[in-house]
Amino acid sequence: MRKIIILLFLLALNFGANAQEFTKADELRGSITPERAWWDIMYYDLKVNVEPDKKFIKGSNTITYKVLKSEEGQQVMQIDLQTPMKIDRIYQSGRRLKFTSDGNAHFIKLWRAQKEGKEYKIIIYFSGMPRGAVNPPWDGGFSWKKDNLGKDFIATANQSIGASIWWPNKDHAYDEPDNGMLMTITVPKDLVEVSNGRLVDEIDNGTTKTWIWKVVNPINNYGVNINIGDYIHFGENYEGENGTLDLDYYVLRENESRARQHFKQVPLMLEAFEHWFGPYPFYEDSFKLVEVPYLGMEHQSSVTYGNKYKMGYLGSDLSETGWGLKFDFIIVHESGHEWFANSITYIDVADMWIHEAFTAYSENLYLDYHFGVKASSEYVIGTRSLIQNDRPIIGVYNVHNEGSIDMYYKGANILHTLRQLIQDDKKWRNMLRGLNKEFYHKTVSSKQVEEYLSTQSGIDLTEFWEQYLRTIKVPKIEYRTEAKNLYFRYTNIVEGFDMPVIAIVNGKEEWIYPTSVWKTKINISNINSVSIKPDFYVDTEEVK
Ligand SMILES: [Zn+2]
Repeated sequence: MRKIIILLFLLALNFGANAQEFTKADELRGSITPERAWWDIMYYDLKVNVEPDKKFIKGSNTITYKVLKSEEGQQVMQIDLQTPMKIDRIYQSGRRLKFTSDGNAHFIKLWRAQKEGKEYKIIIYFSGMPRGAVNPPWDGGFSWKKDNLGKDFIATANQSIGASIWWPNKDHAYDEPDNGMLMTITVPKDLVEVSNGRLVDEIDNGTTKTWIWKVVNPINNYGVNINIGDYIHFGENYEGENGTLDLDYYVLRENESRARQHFKQVPLMLEAFEHWFGPYPFYEDSFKLVEVPYLGMEHQSSVTYGNKYKMGYLGSDLSETGWGLKFDFIIVHESGHEWFANSITYIDVADMWIHEAFTAYSENLYLDYHFGVKASSEYVIGTRSLIQNDRPIIGVYNVHNEGSIDMYYKGANILHTLRQLIQDDKKWRNMLRGLNKEFYHKTVSSKQVEEYLSTQSGIDLTEFWEQYLRTIKVPKIEYRTEAKNLYFRYTNIVEGFDMPVIAIVNGKEEWIYPTSVWKTKINISNINSVSIKPDFYVDTEEVK
């Protein structure tokens, strides 16, 4: 089971990452091209008709955008939609527009002048049989499944592959629709459709039914989702930091009683995360858990759930300490992403650690809140066996390249190490809450997060981030003792790395300040035992 999990994670994040040669298509997908840079998305009005029998969808996306920079002559707009999906026609102000395609990137020639500061609309009609998900949520697309009663059970998941796998949009994380989006989804009439935000209307069309969902906050593309099933709905209110939060649950009819019991963890999760991170970031859009036929995903305000009502990660504990079975991994981890991924979103997927490190770390903050600091510490240290140190945590910029899988648990251990350096849990908590205020509903770079934490901590973390995020080197502390003296130094470090750590000498904690040269702490006492406090993510070796 353990190996399977690790393999799943590897598949999760590293597919496609081996090839370090990047193509034109990678650049078109992963960079802010001139055809993307001049306009700012204000609103997506997405309409989709889903025909499960044919595994076919068709619809339109009306994009409202603001012109940031107008150019002489005919302006060109890049829109992404991946094959085999097809753009059928495009209109602006009633006039049909021409476009050319370069693989999955489409370049639309706009006929009317695009005036700086003005808003315009463009409507794109599309259709096709979207890519089927191979191993969702990682190798994503549409999952066309059936429930135990043979009814359609359908869901989308497309973080890595991109939202343009099924709908046309500006498929780059830096730009989110400022005013949110409207989703109008039509499905066979005996099924329920659940998307992001709040349900504003259901329309009976006879043989089909249209479900209209409205999101009022900026939303990342990959968070946009369609879920279709024979769902039943129940809900509750949560009294949180920003008032009453509506919690809505959509689960398969057969699982209602299990879900009613199991989802009692949701308020516990919210209590812990609001404590550590601040208010849930999307009160206006509510919080939902929606059952899906795959493991789960952090879809904004409609977190998808497929952990089979088990504790841990499908019933197993990633940390192998027992603490991982104290919570449902998907409820905790995927909801943690509402703060880190949905509210604070990376500009470039190379900085995906902003999402995954903080969210992996949120698992131990959940434990910390409900079970104490010992539980959280044991859990995060337990997850170290998942660390690969194969590639740096930060990927390659501008070519849609994710860093190593280590963005999860090495990331969590880096943050846990930083917490030790802060030496003040109140301050640490304020820094985490501060991050969520400073970068609320924003897209950010790793550098911005690094600098924020450096400034707020009052510690120059330049080499700390360099070492842990941009190299695969684990700092190693070599030490030896002689009577009353302790000698120590770092090896395997980047230049200037000088992170202090706590040595435990004869059972007593002592800060030491290693650098690349041997230092001595003298006259401690007769030294019987020495170790480095395991909360620091470093290697240690006693040398003779
Ligand atoms: Zn995650």
